[in-house]
Parts: sequence; structure tokens; C-alpha cells
Amino acid sequence: MPDKRVIVFDGDDASPEVMIPVVSLLESMRLPIQFMRPLVGADAKRKSGHVFPQETKRAIDTSDTTFFGSTSGASTAALFYLRWGKKTYANIRPCVWWPGFNSPLANPEGIDFIVVRENLEDLYLGLEGDIDELDSLKLYSKHANASLSDLGPGKYAIKAITRSGSERVIRYAFELARKRNKQKRVTLSSKYNMLSTSDGYFKSIGDDIAGEYPDIRYESFIIDDFLCRMITNPQVLDVVVMPNLYGDIISDGAAGLLGGMGLAPSGCYGDDYAYFESAHGTAPDIAGQNVINPTATILSACMMLEYLGFGEPAVNLRGATKKVYGEGKVLTRDQQGSASTLDFCSAVAQNL
Ligand code: ATP
Repeated sequence: MPDKRVIVFDGDDASPEVMIPVVSLLESMRLPIQFMRPLVGADAKRKSGHVFPQETKRAIDTSDTTFFGSTSGASTAALFYLRWGKKTYANIRPCVWWPGFNSPLANPEGIDFIVVRENLEDLYLGLEGDIDELDSLKLYSKHANASLSDLGPGKYAIKAITRSGSERVIRYAFELARKRNKQKRVTLSSKYNMLSTSDGYFKSIGDDIAGEYPDIRYESFIIDDFLCRMITNPQVLDVVVMPNLYGDIISDGAAGLLGGMGLAPSGCYGDDYAYFESAHGTAPDIAGQNVINPTATILSACMMLEYLGFGEPAVNLRGATKKVYGEGKVLTRDQQGSASTLDFCSAVAQNL
């Protein structure tokens, strides 16, 4: 089998502090993977005049996957390409509790669900502007009983929910529930009461697709009700699916149930490509301190190994990480320990 080619972007702020040791950890596993770091962001701009050079785009196109460190700067151009260019429409964010996680819940045992977040549309198309640009549309709000232009100067953002975009991600969720073979349950959520046209559309598509999966239990809750249920009884969840913005917010909340953003992995899947990144951002407030928790990045790497066909190494790496939590001796600050990022990675390596 030829080597798999993995593009690595180390990211910004504290992100390289987890990406570099986790890639080293993967290299130490001696799998047939070539890791490549093409230029992006400020470095690329300095050397080639572009923040996202053509060679970097080509490197992604000819790779098997990308391992992406969170970005806050110019490398966002690469992220946009990985998302919209590669049509990675399903953002998968597992929420699984392990003994040793510093959960705020009295009884977190048995939490094991996956947030499937639509990744390409909703409010994330970046279609924002001045309200007066919409004057010619003569938009009238029945809720406010006023024309949009009567509200005075302000900004708008467009929320787009399409049939094809909703269908593919909702189907993804049902297939995932089938494949997981756990509770065989899909929970859909959006604000389908207030936003009956757009979020209502998402729900009605879910209701239709549910009919194709008689073996999967299907339920839907309005997003605020869902949030309350997720906090009070997360153990009943299996696969949950929602539009982009809610998925982004809810999955951070789900990470909070486990014990924080340092524990939340993420993978973005399309029909032809997938890339992997932790669910958290660049953690600028703790950059340069070697304290950022690498667990989210390690677990994202496990998802990546599975995607590349290295199922057994993924199980081993996950097991080695779980053992560190089980022993509870080498934990990072966010988990009430005093270990550094590198101490944690070494402890995982020793368990491999
Ligand atoms: P984004 O919008 O890009 O997701 P954000 O603004 O939500 O990013 P994060 O970078 O995720 O912000 O950080 C939120 C908080 O969580 C910060 O206090 C940060 O230090 C903390 N945090 C994030 N990731 C980790 C981690 N891996 N280990 C420890 N703390 C983290």
C-alpha cells in the first residue's frame, strides 16, 4: 500500500503547541503516512506573496486528508478551501466521557453521543451587510409589524437552509446512528417554531428522511429545549443533527459537559475528502505556556487514522490516552492537574 499523504497546518497562537507534539506522536507509531507541511498564512505571504498559494491548494488536492490546527489569522483561507472547496458538509463532534475527565456533572458516566453539525450553510456563508442594501426588496416583518427599513440603520446576515445541504447532512446522521449500532437514535434540533420557514424546512426534511430509517428512533426538539435536555440527561443521546450555528454552539456546550474544550475532537467529512481539527479555537489566552490540553487534538488524530484505514492504531492511541486519564497522574491544568502539554503527550507515548 503506498504511503498516505497527510497535510498538516500547525495553526496559530497555542495551536502549534498541540499540533507539533501530536504529529510527532503519530510519527512515532511508524505508520505508512507521510506528513507534509505546505506553506500557508503569514509565512506563505512572505515567501510567495499569497496567504494560500496554488502549490498549497494542489498539495491538499493530492493528499488523503488534512490535519488542521486552529487558526485565527491568514491561514483561514486554507480552512475555507477545506470546508467549501472540498465540500466537507458534515462536522462530526463526538462527546464521550471517560473516567478522569474533570466533568462539572455529578454523574457524567455513560455520556456517549455525537453532534453532527451541518458545516457549509446556515449563517456561515458570510452574507452580511448594511440593512439599507436590502431596501429595494421591501421586506416586511410580520413579527415586528414594520418594514425592515423602518427599523433604522443596522446590519443583516443571511441564513440559508437548502434542501440538498440539509438532506445530505441529515442522511449522514441516520447512517452514523446505524453504523454506531448503539441506541439507534437520531435527535434533530433547530429553532423550528420561531424560524418556521428556514429551520422548519430543516426539520421537515428530517421528518421525511426518518421514514426511510424505520430501524432508527427519531425525535426532534426546539434548540432551547434540546439544550436543557442535553444538560440534564445527556446519556439518552446517541446522534444529534442540527444546522451550522446551533451545532457550533451546542458542541462547545457538549465539551463543557465532559470537562472542557481540551477534550473535544472534530472531523469534517464530505463525499470525497475529510479533514480533522480539534473543536476548540487557538486558545490565545494560554499561548506560549505549554499547558494547552492536547487530548482534543489526539482524539481528532484517532478519527483521522480511522478515516485513513488505520483502525487498530486508532484504537491503540485512544486506549493509550484513556489510560492516562484513568491513572490520573499526568493531567493538564484544565483537568485539575499540573502536567505540561509535552508531559501529557509523553505519558500517552509510554502507554502505546
Ligand atoms: P473558536 O471560535 O475559534 O472556536 P473560541 O473563541 O471559542 O475559538 P478557544 O480558543 O476555543 O476560543 O478558547 C476558549 C477557552 O477555552 C479559552 O479560555 C482557552 O484557553 C480554552 N481552551 C481551548 N482549548 C483548550 C485546550 N485544548 N486546553 C485547555 N484550554 C483550552
